[in-house]
Formats: sequence, structure tokens, C-alpha cells
Amino acid sequence: MLYENNKALGDKVKHTRSARTLEADATRNGKRLNERKARGIALSKIFYAQAEKIENENLALKMKKRAGRIYGCCSHREIAINSERYAYTLHTHRCKDRNCVECQRVRAFVLQEKIRAITPSLIERTDKSDGLIFGTLTIKNPHINELKDYLKLMSRAFARLMTRKKLKGVVRGGFRCFEVTRGNIKDHCHPHIHFLLQIARSYFNNKGLYYMRAEEWAEEWTKCLEAEAKKAGLPFDRADYPNGRAFVKILRVQTAESVKNKNKKDYKKQYATIEDLQTEGDHVVNYILKYTAKESENSEKALVKNDQWFIEYDKQIKGIRAISFFGIYKDLIAELPPFQYNEEDIRAQIECEEANEKREKVRVYSAVWCDDHQYVLSDQTLDEALNKKRLNIVNTIKRTLKVQIENQNISLNLIINSMKNKDYKITNDAIIELNKIKARTRKTFERLEKTGEVKNLKDVYNYEFNAELINDFDHLFTESEIKQMIQQNKKAFEILDATINCPF
Ligand SMILES: [Zn+2]
Repeated sequence: MLYENNKALGDKVKHTRSARTLEADATRNGKRLNERKARGIALSKIFYAQAEKIENENLALKMKKRAGRIYGCCSHREIAINSERYAYTLHTHRCKDRNCVECQRVRAFVLQEKIRAITPSLIERTDKSDGLIFGTLTIKNPHINELKDYLKLMSRAFARLMTRKKLKGVVRGGFRCFEVTRGNIKDHCHPHIHFLLQIARSYFNNKGLYYMRAEEWAEEWTKCLEAEAKKAGLPFDRADYPNGRAFVKILRVQTAESVKNKNKKDYKKQYATIEDLQTEGDHVVNYILKYTAKESENSEKALVKNDQWFIEYDKQIKGIRAISFFGIYKDLIAELPPFQYNEEDIRAQIECEEANEKREKVRVYSAVWCDDHQYVLSDQTLDEALNKKRLNIVNTIKRTLKVQIENQNISLNLIINSMKNKDYKITNDAIIELNKIKARTRKTFERLEKTGEVKNLKDVYNYEFNAELINDFDHLFTESEIKQMIQQNKKAFEILDATINCPF
């Protein structure tokens, strides 16, 4: 009896003393979250070590700041763990670095969401029986120091490929992404393009007018590379390629069901159409993205390593667009409304999880990264977690609004000065610019309004965004009118500044 009591007491003490960990509580993805964060820390240390070698103080400081941002990426998360022991991140701060694994995953997720969002319009505006092609296009491995030139070359060659006679009539659009791996030869790299292409059904008739066999794709791609290399003054020699053609791989995208059954007897391939995007969009997008994040941390060929190759790679890919849409995909994505945070959606999802009585309640925690090692959990309420998220979003909008209001005043001052100097060309340009900024400010203000955080600002500022300055010299504003606008902006700026980090 004494033992039982002591054991119970002992267990209790142990429970309260030892912190709960994400890995133990979120058995389905806790380990992965720990691993990804550890990779971020390793990346940050590489950049920090690099910064210490840089002589230019400003550049060194910039690099250290970057290392710091990556170090802090997702070091604190508000999470919800469901009855299947899967942890969802409700809120966290991200570094948005191009080489951060965490942030790359978010970008992939956003891509999936965008494809999902445009699918209904794709079906409506194109043909739901259109098929999908997944392709890989390569080039001879360049030296790592030349990577940027070759990525630009490939990007232009790809655009040219899409306008080739045979493809032009059947291609509707899609997206392409770059992947770069370490080449087999020292100091070289292996850049390639993966793409998804929506293409009319008539293409897939292999006796028809449009169908292209793999060799034909390779020939067309090589021609495009050759033409663009010539334009850019880069060397290109067909003798560098087997059969004189760059390697390509072209596959028709199959349905998830089809992929699952591919080893079964009597299996007949089923190809995905645009209609399948509605139910299988994630599968199709992942089909491409799995190629961009496939390698493991410890492999010989891991991208992120503390060596000269990686540092050079990082420099070379700066400013290169990793993912780009084209054709109707580009148009439809441009039409998508800006992301809007909706707290009700999150609450509804959680209620939906909990509606099943057999399931446990969704648990909410704060997860904090400890000792370069793992996430440790502490209790949190859903309200508090969502409040943090909301506050963060509100603050981001307020910061944007501050910058826009400042820019308005720059234009307004320019208008006053140019009017004084009778330089009406400058006045005219400044008015055009001001109206553009006003339109942007109005949109930002509307976003802030939706969060319910504008009461005080409205009282003082009475946002008259609709009143655009008239681009007409018969109605030039008086100096005092413009000065009044500047004052009003200054007041709004002060309110925003004072209320960042605390609600109105
Ligand atoms: Zn990050």
C-alpha cells in the first residue's frame, strides 16, 4: 500500500516536473516539426559562420540579421492537437527565407491553396476534359558560379517552348518551378525545370496533329535552349548532349487511385483531367513539389551544407523566381482576392473536429523551442492563441498603412513644392502617383476595417479615400488644402504608431 501511494505520488511529481514535449503529444508529426526546426537552426549557423568571414561591416551585419531571422523562425508556435494526434500550427512567426525548409513548406501549401481556388474557374473557362502533363527539362550541368545565367536562360527557353507551333494551339497554362541539385562534377550544379501543363484533349491522340513524342519534346526544348543561349551570348553545343538533345521527361499525370494501383494485375492507367483537380488538386500539386523537397538532411548531396558550394548557390538564386505561373493559370491567380484571415473558419474547423463524440477534444498548446533540441509544450487556451494571431495580423496591416500614409505625404509635399516652382510636369506626375497610393491605402484600410480595429482612426481621420485629386489644372488645390491633407495624414500615422502592439 505504501509503495502504491509513493508510486502515485512519484508519478505525479514526475508529471509536473518534466515538461511535455511536442514529439510525445503529437505523435503523427511532432518528430517532423522538431526535425525541420533543427534544420533551420543548422542553416542559421551556416549563415552566421559565413557572416563572421565577411570583411565589409554592413554586409556582415546584414548576413547576421538574416541568420537571426532564420534562428527565430517558428521558435514559438501556438498549436492545436487533434484526436488523431496531429499538430496544426494556429500561429507562429516565420522568417520567409528562400532556403528555410519551414517557409518553403508554407510556400508549397500556398501554391496548393491557389490551385484549389482557381479550379472552379478553370473548369468553367476551359474544358473539364483537358489533361495534365508533368514534365522535367534539363540542361548540361553548369559551374555553380554561372547558375544564375543558366536559370535565366532556362526560364526564357521555357517561355519560348510554350509558344512553339504545335503547343501553342493546345496549351492552356500551368506553372513551372526550378529545382537545383548538386552536380556530379565538383563545383557544378544540376538545374532543372519541373512543370505542370494543362493541355487540350486533342493533344493526347497520339495519331493526331498535336501529339509530341518524348524525342520531339527533347528536340523542341533543345532548339529553344540553343536560340536563347545564342541571344544571351552563352555557349551551347549539341555535341555536349547524348543524341544531340537535352534530356527531358514527359509524363501524363495519373489519378491518385491509378498511382496506388499501378502494381496490380490488369491495372489500366487512369489519367487526371482538370475535373480531377477539384478532388485531387493536392495530389497533382504534390506530384511536382515532392521533387523540390525530396532530399534528406544527411545525404552526401544535401543542398544545405556548410561549404562554398552552398554559399555560392544561395547567392546565385537570389532574385530568381522559383515558381511561376503562365497562361490562364497566371490570369486566374492574379484575379484571386488577397488572403483574408477569418477566425470563424478556424473555430468552425475545430468545432467540426469535436462534433464527433467518439473523439477527444482538440487541445491547444504553446510550443516553445528549447535548447536547440525540441519543442516543449505548455497549456494555452484557444481564445488566447487566436488573439495572438489576430493581433499579429492587425499589426502587420497597420505597418503597411503607416508606410502608405508616409508615401502619400511625400507626394503631397512634392505637389506643393512643384506648384511653387511652377513645374507643372512634376505636379502632374506627383498627382498621378498620389492617386495610385491612395487607391492602395484604401484597400489596406478596408482590410483593417474587417478586423474591427479602425474605430478611433475613423473618428479622427474620417478616411476620405474616394476623393481623388483631380488631374486637371483648372482645379489645382490651394496650398492650404494640401497642407491640411498632410496634417490629417500625420495624425493618422500617430494613431497607428501608438496602437501597434495593443488593440484600439
Ligand atoms: Zn523560415
